[in-house]
Amino acid sequence: ADSFDEECDYLFKAVLIGDSAVGKSNLLSRFAKDEFHLDSKPTIGVEFAYRNVKVGDKVIKAQIWDTAGQERFRAITSSYYRGALGALLVYDITRRETFEHLKKWLYELREFGCSDMVVVLVGNKCDLGSSREVNLEDGQSLAQLEGLLFLETSAKENLNVEDAFNQMIAKIHEVTS
Ligand code: GDP
Ligand code: MG
Repeated sequence: ADSFDEECDYLFKAVLIGDSAVGKSNLLSRFAKDEFHLDSKPTIGVEFAYRNVKVGDKVIKAQIWDTAGQERFRAITSSYYRGALGALLVYDITRRETFEHLKKWLYELREFGCSDMVVVLVGNKCDLGSSREVNLEDGQSLAQLEGLLFLETSAKENLNVEDAFNQMIAKIHEVTS
């Protein structure tokens, strides 16, 4: 089982942020447990999951925090961000408003997050291409402007999910070592 004292070289905390229903919890369950849920319910209380990732010859235990649905009330507090070295900032490619709200999320990240936090911008639900409201290029150019890593993912089809987390973890390792 995946326990705290399992052998690892580093422990990193990272957070998931973004509007409600963009797929944060499913990205995490896909990454941590290889599970996807069609109707996911906001969890009670802040939850996190662990997964060990190998970067070079080091084993990194990533502790990924998920919101308990507080984002619906714009009530994510500074303690959620405390100590986080990375963030997955998620929007839904089929809902333009979730992309427009990224400015607000970036502002909050800069207010509460550490200054050299590694941020991966994630356009989720890329399996729903026919309902797309945000072009790939829009995501790319925002990421370039803000200095973020960028990927489109599908938690449902398991596309790029590993990559999104692994790129963040590898980058954290790079900037902290
Ligand atoms: P959260 O509020 O950001 O944590 O979002 P959830 O993970 O709870 O997902 C919200 C809804 O979107 C659920 O009905 C999920 O099944 C669905 N969903 C999440 N990721 C994907 C995806 O990649 N593709 C599709 N088609 N649906 C998704
Ligand atoms: Mg959730």
